[in-house]
Amino acid sequence: MINNAIEKAYSVLETGEPLQYEEARVLAELEGEDVLDLLSLANKVKNRHAGLPEGDLHSCSIINAKSGVCAENCRFCAQSLHNSADVEQYQLLDPERILQSAGELYSEGIRHFGIVTSGYGYRKVNPEFLKIIGVIDRLRAKYPDLNVCASLGVLGEEQVSMLAEHSVAHYNINIQVAPERYRELIADSHPLQDRIDTIRLLGKYGIPICCGGILGVGETMHDRVDFIYALQNLDITVIPLNVLVPIEGTPLAGAATPAITDIVKTFALCRLAHPGKIIKFAAGRETVMKDFQGLLMLAGANGFLTGGYLTTRGRRVEDDRDFMRQLAGFTGVPST
Ligand code: SF4
Repeated sequence: MINNAIEKAYSVLETGEPLQYEEARVLAELEGEDVLDLLSLANKVKNRHAGLPEGDLHSCSIINAKSGVCAENCRFCAQSLHNSADVEQYQLLDPERILQSAGELYSEGIRHFGIVTSGYGYRKVNPEFLKIIGVIDRLRAKYPDLNVCASLGVLGEEQVSMLAEHSVAHYNINIQVAPERYRELIADSHPLQDRIDTIRLLGKYGIPICCGGILGVGETMHDRVDFIYALQNLDITVIPLNVLVPIEGTPLAGAATPAITDIVKTFALCRLAHPGKIIKFAAGRETVMKDFQGLLMLAGANGFLTGGYLTTRGRRVEDDRDFMRQLAGFTGVPST
């Protein structure tokens, strides 16, 4: 069985066709040095089927445009009012402040900038939503080559159609874990279906979807495979993978970080299940994975979030750029 699964995994390199669920379940059991073989295969599949020009990596930065005061009860999140994490709380930032942040990141070479707001989402078009649309317009006018993305939670059809009209580049909304485990591991204050409905609307209006999840919230390896394959049904463009950064005051404050081999397998299987997509390493890269972040970037990821996260710090954009230049030696394409 294992040999058959390995053979199928190698055929992804030749064909670019996604690995099937059953084989991924078998490969999720690999251990020891075999995990490194899987990593190496995922890196080759990425280079051949999702390689970016000149071995480049997809990078983006975000701004936490509205922080804390969220009525939802996501167990990992410092911004939930149900948790007692020490986090900054503020309503939607002044548009000038968002423009200033985007301008600074633009001058550092960032060309994907995401506006992120805490909360369930926007059930209707309200003044705050209109303000965000205004900021998107101003950013696009000022920096024509800047891709302006948004992560505003659950949306209705009118809001999605407005984002499409105003050319939002990607919309981020995560399913976080295997759908069957969402209620238990993530939140029971809202159904996952609300998020899936938003994803379907984004697809209907042609907005490229950025949708992924978080590792280390109590899921098993089996759950991780289910999560990866749940993404296959959603027609998404970018898959952000986060590793939990346990935060004091949240129910997951004491959560143990998954074994590095399990995280490597998850990244690699995600690449084999989604050969041509952008897979982005987001939170946890520097703070939790530390010495292993390079290894994970070689396990199939071709993108990363840089310059800080919603409630935790990241590395400077320039430091990340140096780091990624070093990794370019493994892409099979000369580093620039
Ligand atoms: S993840 Fe989003 S919806 Fe959940 S508690 Fe945090 S801010 Fe609220």
